Amino acid sequence: MPAKGRLRGPSVELLEHAGFAPDAPGERALAFPCRNAPVDVLLVRAADVPEYVQDGVVDCGITGADLVRERGVRVTELQRLGFGHCTLEPAVPEESPVRELADLDGLRVATAYPRLTRELLAEAGIGAELVDVTGSVEVAPRLGLADAIVDLVSSGSTLRTNGLRALGPLFSSEAVLVGPEQPSAGALQLAGVFRSVVEARRARYLMLNAPEAAVPDICALVPGSRAPTILPLAEPGMVAVHAVVPAADVWRLLPELEAVGASSILLVPVERMSG
Ligand code: AMP
Repeated sequence: MPAKGRLRGPSVELLEHAGFAPDAPGERALAFPCRNAPVDVLLVRAADVPEYVQDGVVDCGITGADLVRERGVRVTELQRLGFGHCTLEPAVPEESPVRELADLDGLRVATAYPRLTRELLAEAGIGAELVDVTGSVEVAPRLGLADAIVDLVSSGSTLRTNGLRALGPLFSSEAVLVGPEQPSAGALQLAGVFRSVVEARRARYLMLNAPEAAVPDICALVPGSRAPTILPLAEPGMVAVHAVVPAADVWRLLPELEAVGASSILLVPVERMSG
């Protein structure tokens, strides 16, 4: 997994949530074991992870989907991990006449992601001259090195600070677990454990009480494939309803449930979801 940068912290946290008990790695550690699972973690540059996985140096690796594409390696994506979200976007100086992606045709574009940018621009039918840079891509237009840049964006604040205007995403990325084309049984098992954690993070366990007559309305509101559990309460005519709901829907769902008669609504985190 990445030794530094944005993906390191959430990667260690994923191992913690998976119950592996990673031995808290110091800032300079190159590797660390896990106390609860036969997993040894190597800390390397995020950009080196794809090659290490392809060459079989490790069973699997965590890195950005953008870097997997950029390195042009033959690896298999075993699991999307739900963190490290960002987009690869072209941007131009505020005052540039460029309005949309198509206007980049024939212009000079600076990027630290030359392979991916070339592929994505070609797919969009745009022939730009790429200028490879390794850092501080945002200053390239001001230095007269390029007319535009293509860089990773998460909040967009770095672009704004540098007087740049984004033209819209070319590629959406997040952290992924990748394995070799023929993944080992251990890598597949690890992917399954991570999947159960990632899916659980997106879910909440909902419990509420309601009059029996409100159950059809409640079932219509509670989305998802899993049928709710309906349990009788000691009070005649009242039931408890339990269901797993998407965390992202909760803000909307709770007032709607109250409006159809739900009371004593409890929402609790889910630690794992599998099966
Ligand atoms: P770094 O923090 O530079 O080590 O970034 C490594 C990876 O973090 C990138 O390859 C992306 O997959 C991911 N990432 C997420 N958000 C951003 C962002 N705003 N800028 C750069 N990288 C990002």
